[in-house]
Amino acid sequence: MNKYYSIATPILNGNEKKYVMDCLNSTWISSNGPYLDQFEQQFAAFCQTKHAIACSNGTTALHLALMAHGVGPEDEVIVPTLTFVASANAVTYCGAVPVFVDAESETWNIDTDAIESKITPRTKGIIAVHLYGHPANMDPIMHIAQKHDLFVIEDAAEAIGAQYKGKMAGALGHTATFSLFGNKIITTGEGGVVTTNDDDLAEKVRLLKGQGIDKNKKYWHPVIGYNYRMTNIQAAIGCAQLENIDWHIRQRIRVAMHYYDYLQDDDRLTLPVQKIWSKNVYWMFSVVLNRYTELQRDSVMKCLKDNGIETRPFFYPMHILPPYKQGLTFTDFPVANRIASQGINLPSHGELTEGDIQFICRTLKNVL
Ligand SMILES: *Cc1c(COP(=O)(O)O)cnc(C)c1O
Repeated sequence: MNKYYSIATPILNGNEKKYVMDCLNSTWISSNGPYLDQFEQQFAAFCQTKHAIACSNGTTALHLALMAHGVGPEDEVIVPTLTFVASANAVTYCGAVPVFVDAESETWNIDTDAIESKITPRTKGIIAVHLYGHPANMDPIMHIAQKHDLFVIEDAAEAIGAQYKGKMAGALGHTATFSLFGNKIITTGEGGVVTTNDDDLAEKVRLLKGQGIDKNKKYWHPVIGYNYRMTNIQAAIGCAQLENIDWHIRQRIRVAMHYYDYLQDDDRLTLPVQKIWSKNVYWMFSVVLNRYTELQRDSVMKCLKDNGIETRPFFYPMHILPPYKQGLTFTDFPVANRIASQGINLPSHGELTEGDIQFICRTLKNVL
């Protein structure tokens, strides 16, 4: 039986089990308990931010951040078209409209030169996504935001530990959001975090995630809140994951370096970059199949699957998805269209050995 190479797998090789058992033994299994405070403190310390607020997943983290920034009906928020659907959906949950911007061909992140033409009097903010682990080019984004009085949320779901000019992802925008889903660099099963240096925004996020309960007056609800809480059990897993965060990130980088070794001489492929101003944490090592059509890309993925190698297509750009395509012109997003139709994510988790990657690369080249 041949080995199966999955695209992602959680690695729970630290104190995860011990801390979860501690929750069960102590009966602190719901959304109060010592691991929650510890997790938030460790997370904030890692991201070098003043606040980290744990919540139920990366999508609710985005929703909370948008609400804390006051986004509501009629507002517009700028979002890269090439991202996971949650980045746009959270805007829609607020009754606001995501306004899409094309990708840039090297890092595959938002094209900062294309942002300003999308700004209208209704624009409230920008969501900068650090796609597949490479940070967005934050200086121009922050500059545009300042000029037009906009907020910036980093969607750092895929980029814990990434850096921009030596600063941590999560500490670059006015707020940032993380996902701790099972396929992310560290996981709590399901889970999310909002980070910020702003006391006022942090307080708003805390209020909204816990049913809007006034912190000085029990069962008094000054606003409509949500139940977006994380449990102590999830936080316990998160504490164990954070103890080994540097190791988890190093494994992603190690895997990426092996891929570069075996693929960089192949001109049929475009590989991820690491701009000099960035630290890429390679959540998903990804390749663009130059000159292949979407159908050919899909059949490459099928052949890889037949060889036991799981891959994923790049995200479909938001502007072609049924809920968002109305009124948008396909041709307005040429870079995202091309990358999305030719891109695949390769197995990228930290348990892959150099031999595994050699096999994956050899098979990919044969299939091509
Ligand atoms: C995973 C992800 C999310 C959503 O996180 P969930 O925890 O699955 O809700 C949001 N944005 C991006 C870019 C993601 O990759």
